[in-house]
Amino acid sequence: MTSACETAPQEYASFEEYPYYEGDDLGVTYSQEGSIFKLWSPPAYEVKLRIYREGSGGEPLVEQNMDRGLKGVWETKIVGDLNGNYYTYQVNIKREWLKEVTGPYARAVGVNGKRAMVISLPETNPEGWENDQRPPLQNLTDIIIYELHVRDLSTHPNSGISHKGKFLGLTESGTKSPEGESTGLDHIKELGVTHVHLLPSFDFKSIDETALHQNKFNWGYDPQNYNVPEGSYSTNPNDGATRVNEFKKMVQILHQNDLRVIMDVVYNHTGDTELSNFNQLVPGYYYRQDSTGGFSDASACGNETASERAMMRKFMVESVKYWATEYHIDGFRFDLMGIHDIETMNLITQELEKIDPTIFVYGEGWTAGDSPLPLERRAIKHNTVNLSKVAAFSDDLRDGIKGHWSDHEDQGFASGKPGLEESVKFGVVASTYHPQINYKVVNYSNAPWANQPYQTINYVSCHDNHTLLDKLAISNKEASEEELIRMHKLSMAIVLTSQGIPFLHAGVELLRTKQGEENSYKSHDTINQIDWSRKAQYKPVFEFYRDLISLRKNHPAFRMPHVDMINQHLKFLEFSQPNMVGYMINNNANGDEYRNILVLFNGSNEERAVQIPEGNWKLISDSEHINEEGLRNISGTQLKIPAVSAYILAET
Ligand code: CA
Repeated sequence: MTSACETAPQEYASFEEYPYYEGDDLGVTYSQEGSIFKLWSPPAYEVKLRIYREGSGGEPLVEQNMDRGLKGVWETKIVGDLNGNYYTYQVNIKREWLKEVTGPYARAVGVNGKRAMVISLPETNPEGWENDQRPPLQNLTDIIIYELHVRDLSTHPNSGISHKGKFLGLTESGTKSPEGESTGLDHIKELGVTHVHLLPSFDFKSIDETALHQNKFNWGYDPQNYNVPEGSYSTNPNDGATRVNEFKKMVQILHQNDLRVIMDVVYNHTGDTELSNFNQLVPGYYYRQDSTGGFSDASACGNETASERAMMRKFMVESVKYWATEYHIDGFRFDLMGIHDIETMNLITQELEKIDPTIFVYGEGWTAGDSPLPLERRAIKHNTVNLSKVAAFSDDLRDGIKGHWSDHEDQGFASGKPGLEESVKFGVVASTYHPQINYKVVNYSNAPWANQPYQTINYVSCHDNHTLLDKLAISNKEASEEELIRMHKLSMAIVLTSQGIPFLHAGVELLRTKQGEENSYKSHDTINQIDWSRKAQYKPVFEFYRDLISLRKNHPAFRMPHVDMINQHLKFLEFSQPNMVGYMINNNANGDEYRNILVLFNGSNEERAVQIPEGNWKLISDSEHINEEGLRNISGTQLKIPAVSAYILAET
């Protein structure tokens, strides 16, 4: 049976003809007197709003048809104070009712994200939130990123953290391992990074929030409600306000500890396809289609979104603006950014710039499968030159250092493979143009792809694939632990002295292992968690990384903000032997108190005697220890660099 009040909507020949709604009030606008609900769905015949007391279960308190307005928007007003009540939308398309859903603009939800909640956001602010400040940041090249999963920091029994697996676990100070080493927040501070990048912390689908005692783990790359924090990381997913409040508390405490906060955002696909919020409200519109009209799949997760369509683009722009303003988020890491179009990414940075010019945007400059979006429109790595204030991950340096990510036995510069010197040099100059680089032999790029150093994320490992230690162990089966540690330290020394923005996989500073597991996206905590006892066990490694970070922070020559400055001050040395890379940064670059700096990487298994420029050099790092005042003086122009090591020298 069809109801009497439904009317067929206007017919549209394509999704591109759907009307654009420019208002910023989609979802719900709350006040104590009443709430206004608005939903965009041009093809709908009819739309129902239901109000519930609870986030799950029970009968609706109100069930009401919404009115068709202009530009495809449906609206209705409910009088009275609805704060804390839940709601759903349901859309009738071609005389068929689709599923009840929260809608993409939901800002709070009930357990498992099935119903949206009407929320008075100011009431979720922790005490002092109005005084919350982003920690100071002068240049984007001053950033040092620490990529962390919320659960990994705290779930190990030896973390000393009480709120295990929760946002609040990141707020605990004074926590210690059984060996007496600082853990959690204090540890991150001790390490000295500037930004904590959280793996997906918006509401995702894979964890059943009604069964948290099962302690299931997932990375969270299966978005459900984009503008809502994940429920399983809160202390009470049944109350929609708790996760909002606790997320803000986490940001506030991190800010108070001089750490900025980056969100991993996954607008490129949704966890559900047919049944997603997007698709149950405006079927097909938010997604790209393949040649048969089905869902195209550049994400390899069953669908890909269509950022080039006006209302999807608008949704992405408004969503990041919302996180930056309501939650004071300081940066965004775009998952599979190559699925998005360049215009959308540039619009996002343009809008974020208005909120705060130091908000940082970067992403994976690739897709996981082919896309109908033409290559020249994609926000892929090789199009970074057309992106404004957007950085991309350098897989060139990553695989140059440690070997190919999917060829597990493949070795890299740090494990003695020759022929990767130009890929390392490419990383040293942050993928920009430098006259001494032979781009023809750089790993995956035959030209510079960054205009400026802040457009490159230099890294050697992240949550994806093997940890650095596991990769080195698998590809160097004969190597002793001591030899693996030397390769590990050389790898990280390259990342932490190069121009551009260094990025650390959390726990790398404790020689993190996942016991050889490559894809731990839903593995048990015991595989994924940081084992804090390794801090005492590998203390010299931790101290070396801490001191490298300190060196970088104290010496602006390692983080030059402009490509011209790099070209003016950074010169590579020429070596006749393979597996050697060296360069000098001269003339107090970027205001550095060191007049000249010499950085030498020996990736070979042999000691190398090299010629160095004349000068009153002090040895700052011998790959074991770092002393910014100098470990010892170096005389003469001959220097022996031990196998698999990084030497740093300076002249004052
Ligand atoms: Ca969830």
